[in-house]
Amino acid sequence: MIRITDRKEAEQRFKSLTTNLPGAIFRADPRTWNAVYMSESVLDLSGYSHEAFSEGHTFADLVHPDDRPQVEAEATKALSKRKPFQIEYRIHHRDGSLRWVLAQGQLIPNADPQHPLIDGLVLDITERKEAEERLAASEQRFRSLVSNLPGLVYRCTYDTNWDTLYMSEGIFDVTGYSRAEFEEHGLSFKEVVCEDDLPRIREAVRASIEAGTAYEVEYRMRHRDGSMCWVTDKGQATRGPDGTIAWLDGVMFDITARKKAEERLRLMETAVEDTSESVLITETELDRPGPRIVHVNPGFERLTGYTAEEAIGQTPRILQGEETDPDLLVHLREQLEAGQPFFGETVNYRKDGTPFINEWSISPARNDKGEITHFVAVQRDVTERREYENRIREALEKARELSDLKTQFISMTSHEFRTPMGTILASAELLERYGERWEHDKQVTHLQRIQSAVHTMSDLLDDVLVIGRSDAGKLNMRPERLNPTAVIQAIVDEVQHGEGDGHTITLNTDEAPAVAEADAGLIRHACTNLLSNAVKYSDPGSTIRVRVWAADKALHVTVADDGIGIPEDDQERLFESFHRAGNVGNVSGTGLGLAIVQRAVAAHGGQIDFQSEAGVGSTFHITLPLTPQDAA
Ligand code: ADP
Repeated sequence: MIRITDRKEAEQRFKSLTTNLPGAIFRADPRTWNAVYMSESVLDLSGYSHEAFSEGHTFADLVHPDDRPQVEAEATKALSKRKPFQIEYRIHHRDGSLRWVLAQGQLIPNADPQHPLIDGLVLDITERKEAEERLAASEQRFRSLVSNLPGLVYRCTYDTNWDTLYMSEGIFDVTGYSRAEFEEHGLSFKEVVCEDDLPRIREAVRASIEAGTAYEVEYRMRHRDGSMCWVTDKGQATRGPDGTIAWLDGVMFDITARKKAEERLRLMETAVEDTSESVLITETELDRPGPRIVHVNPGFERLTGYTAEEAIGQTPRILQGEETDPDLLVHLREQLEAGQPFFGETVNYRKDGTPFINEWSISPARNDKGEITHFVAVQRDVTERREYENRIREALEKARELSDLKTQFISMTSHEFRTPMGTILASAELLERYGERWEHDKQVTHLQRIQSAVHTMSDLLDDVLVIGRSDAGKLNMRPERLNPTAVIQAIVDEVQHGEGDGHTITLNTDEAPAVAEADAGLIRHACTNLLSNAVKYSDPGSTIRVRVWAADKALHVTVADDGIGIPEDDQERLFESFHRAGNVGNVSGTGLGLAIVQRAVAAHGGQIDFQSEAGVGSTFHITLPLTPQDAA
């Protein structure tokens, strides 16, 4: 039995206990939520006295309208199952502030079993809630700070899966998976890292843990869309109080762009190193001593004979020499100063001094800001190509000359053959018609004309044949021991008594050698033509002076006249086939004579020169070696 004093005492203790509670104790009717009992401490919690609750005020009235449906639903649900409830919600304090409360309660048996009551406790949890909110806000701030950082931050377990403990938003950019998929849905690092790289990462992390240092490892991650991206991952293991590894903390950056650039660079480097072309890279200083070489490839070493060590630090001037075109260097400088690429070729020299024709292609290389930082030069030895081109050009030139010659030959022959053929035809017709009636002498005159015309034509053909033989390289020298005076005397006599019968031809052989190793045929070709020109281009009655002498182991012959001379403009092309000077007037000719002289002299290993002045006269001079080698 409990004594009254004991009961009073117990009530007193209960009251003081409930008063000091940061909340209120209640007993209520679940149907109406009217309080059967409310502890006095409800005053602090709600601002209303416990009496107010016995006067029909219900706690439910204080619930924040937004939270009310949830509170009712949860309470009803728990009570219908006769289970205790525990609900957090906000109430309006009488002073107008909002308080967070935690209400706990459960049904208790009542004297009337049909109407059980609820005993419960309402605790003020405003402070805890506010602390939680502050924590959430601070976490939010932290997350937003981290998400604004480049890259991503993570915390994961140190085991086979690397399960995620924390992941910043940046993971989405790298993998296409959200932070939540890692943090909340159990996606682990292992699932997004490229499998081939896994062993390498494991080893790097293991080694760092062993050494007690941070790890840094670059690897590939598989993006949700299937693409691969490169990351660099720097992290460190954190140990728990017991010394075991609690987790790994790290930061990660997307380095795909850098890796791609590196890959490109590697490719370019391989291309530059492996190309058969010579590549050299220089700085940009154009003033003396010139741009320093900073890189050369094996192609350069092969082309120039300089090793990379020898070339680096030098300037491209090491390739220049006597025949390097100075104009080209000026142009090169102008182009590069203007930031323009340069193309050109010039003679350069290898380390051993051998020259080669170098084709240069130089481009300025610029940095991000567009400033020129280097010149990249690609060089190619085009010596063989140029020689080949020259040979082709010469061959073409020759072919063109031959074709010109043919054209000129046709026009010359049609002209030069027409006159003697006309003579032949005329005389033959006259002879046919009147021959029988003519005196013998007249017949002979016409027959001689025909013969002379035939001779002219045959001489012309001879000339053409000599040129043809010479062009075909068949004008060979057949030297024999002969007396030059005798040979030239015979030619002089022949001309003097033939076409030169109106001229005086003198021959000076005072210093002529007694013998010479020479080809009489070639001497005849040369001297006959020179003499007949002297006759043709000087007035009858004038004197032509021929002189033969020996000097400097050579046989010299000059033929001098006081004729019309050769205008200066024509002198240069005088020995070309068919070329005739502008002052020849009516004097007939083919323009082949001097070409034959020149070829004959050349075949003899000698040379020809002349002096001439228009209106004064000409002197032609040939020099033949006395004991010539076969010049052909
Ligand atoms: P051509 O049949 O016209 O004489 P050549 O080849 O012998 O041909 O000479 C070429 C040209 O050189 C002549 O047409 C002439 O203009 C000039 N020439 C050659 N010899 C003399 C000379 N002794 N005096 C003046 N001109 C000459």
